[in-house]
Amino acid sequence: MRGAQRDALGFLQEEIQTLKDQGRYSRLRILETAQEAVAVVDGKRVVNLTSNNYLGLTTHPKLKGAAREAIDRYGVGSAAVRTIIGTMTLHEELERRLARFKGTESALVFQSGFTTNVAVCQSLMTSEEDLLISDELNHASIVDGARLAKSSRKVYPHKDMKALRSILESPQARGARRRLLVTDGVFSMDGDIAPLPEIVELAEKYEAIVMVDDAHASGVLGENGRGTVDHFRLSGRVPIQIGTLSKAIASLGGYVASRRVLREYLEHWARPFLFSSSHPPSVAAACIAAIEILETEPELLERLWENTRFFKEELRKMGWDTGESATPITPVIVKDTDVARRLSEMLFEEGVFALWIGYPTVAKGKERLRTIVTAAHTMEDLRFALEKLKKAGRALGLIA
Ligand SMILES: *Cc1c(COP(=O)(O)O)cnc(C)c1O
Repeated sequence: MRGAQRDALGFLQEEIQTLKDQGRYSRLRILETAQEAVAVVDGKRVVNLTSNNYLGLTTHPKLKGAAREAIDRYGVGSAAVRTIIGTMTLHEELERRLARFKGTESALVFQSGFTTNVAVCQSLMTSEEDLLISDELNHASIVDGARLAKSSRKVYPHKDMKALRSILESPQARGARRRLLVTDGVFSMDGDIAPLPEIVELAEKYEAIVMVDDAHASGVLGENGRGTVDHFRLSGRVPIQIGTLSKAIASLGGYVASRRVLREYLEHWARPFLFSSSHPPSVAAACIAAIEILETEPELLERLWENTRFFKEELRKMGWDTGESATPITPVIVKDTDVARRLSEMLFEEGVFALWIGYPTVAKGKERLRTIVTAAHTMEDLRFALEKLKKAGRALGLIA
């Protein structure tokens, strides 16, 4: 009997071996400190170029204080879904703050950015007569949302506005009941920004609903970090904005900022909202404190961009290929999985943590290190990382 049970999952070993043969296997790295600019990973102290902690808020005293206070007052969990008895005052307060921050009528919070995208795509695209249109480099949660939706879907090549136009002009799109046009605001692997003005113009012409996923843009782009819609001055022209509370906001969760009617609809249709419990009060409280900081301490955002400009500029001067990045996410493209892995390992030995990313997360020929600087990095941290990048890059013959 015991033998039979072992064999029941035996096929997984072969799958894992395949990953290893393809160079796609990796083990989890363990962070032993808080998520900070200099952190201890797998027992080694490193300059951390890998987190999404854009503004350094994961350890901000105001967020920690707000979380502690919420625990004292409301306990550690909600023990219910939002629609039963899991909507606490703090959840409502957070949603009011998010709507004000984004300049929308309302906002609705979900357990994560991932579930937000899945929930919205699935809830809006309910018939085969609907059409979901998506950039090929959109986040996995949009891909999964599209898979769960009942609609057909069309994917256009990355930021290709001619291709998007021809999809919108096609009989299938013109005949569709609803057209949902989804794009990341900032693309998570390349750090480039969606051509939102063109997308909005096309959407208005062909009557598509635009949905922008600003996971990497909230707290980063636009005034006070309001996101790509604000960055491009498109307020009022993008009906659905998605954001995450897990990156710059430094806690956990996702939200949709939109019209009141969408919130009302999602309260009745969005399956993760209906069937999965709400955030612990400490999470909601930390998020509220983070939004307050975004609204009142623009210095953090300024520092993030100073650091970003400096780091990018120095990388380019060294001769690295940094793609089309225009945000704190800067890829260092080396075009080969083994080289990317070697470079990452050498840097780690030298005290710099930058993750390598290979196929299939990025296309073949686009293998890279992915670096992210934050407001919390000091000039000294960045100079140290750059020096090590130069050393390792030269040792591998990647730069002169
Ligand atoms: C990270 C990310 C998400 C998921 O957000 P979580 O809150 O981590 O679930 C969704 N969309 C994009 C574009 C992201 O980069």
